[in-house]
Amino acid sequence: MLRQALLAISKSERAERLISTSPLTAGVVGRYVADDVGEVIGELTRKGLLVTVDHLGEEVTDQRQAEEGVAEYLRLLALLPAGADVSVKLTALGLRLSEPLALDHAAAICRAAAAANVTVTLDAEEHDTIPGLHSVHAALRKDHPDVGVVVQAYLPDSLDRCEKLGGVRVRLCKGAYTAPGAYTRPADIDRSFVRCLRVLMAGTGYPMVATHDPRLVRIASTLAVLEGRDATGFEHQMLYGVRPDEQLRLAGQGARMRVYLPYGSDWYPYLMRRLAERPRNLAFFLRSLVSR
Ligand code: FAD
Repeated sequence: MLRQALLAISKSERAERLISTSPLTAGVVGRYVADDVGEVIGELTRKGLLVTVDHLGEEVTDQRQAEEGVAEYLRLLALLPAGADVSVKLTALGLRLSEPLALDHAAAICRAAAAANVTVTLDAEEHDTIPGLHSVHAALRKDHPDVGVVVQAYLPDSLDRCEKLGGVRVRLCKGAYTAPGAYTRPADIDRSFVRCLRVLMAGTGYPMVATHDPRLVRIASTLAVLEGRDATGFEHQMLYGVRPDEQLRLAGQGARMRVYLPYGSDWYPYLMRRLAERPRNLAFFLRSLVSR
């Protein structure tokens, strides 16, 4: 119930105006969103962590905004070390306006990323954008075979999707939105996650295991060993600000550990999704509002 309510609030412009213009939210935002992205990338990489950087923004409805999003990614790519990744939301590049427009924009980012020795991963968003996501991903792969894509385990067709994505860099996550017919019970989502993991680990692609769930992290590491993958054959991914000690622990053990690092002023829907995932964070958020 609370999750649904917070996800609904994440789409409310009124709530966004109220919350995002309040100076009181800055402390909470700073926990999950980089203020100085260049500085945070430096800090994380010095600690042995890899990064995937996301310029916040989504659901763009005018072409100029979409072009500004591309320009920002091109500026970002100049800052990134080789081996970094950028996470891209196609709705920030104009997918709601037209698929060919989003494809052109994503292709421009992929070309610049290849020149910088950086990979690109396409985030998965609302359920009605998933067909467009996979069609753009397939088109991009013709020239950029290493472009990655996200699969959300809460979608019942996620297993089928993983089976079709042989040879691909696939980030597997539980899913942060809502979708008709999606699994909603945590146990069902976890089972789907493990089924997908089995296929990805046994397959020919590169699995990127995006979860903070200690049990799923352990299962992923075990399956990788069983499938004969060494530490370079898959990676763990976690969000900036979530379980930072665990991120360092995994990196310290020699695992590839990539931190999803968002930055930019359009942080509101991202933060609301993080609160929806973990009601305890809502209490932290509310406390920080009253304790200043
Ligand atoms: P949960 O069931 O939320 O949590 C399991 C356990 O992890 C908790 O019990 C707790 O111990 C710990 N934990 C979880 N969250 C927190 C927290 N905020 N603070 C402290 N501890 C916590 N979703 C999409 O729909 N599309 C995407 O493209 C996408 N990309 C992602 C990229 C990365 C790198 C990550 C990590 C997640 C991404 N997500 C994406 C979000 C994902 O779908 C989940 O909503 C989110 O990761 C929470 O699920 P979980 O697997 O961590 O497990």
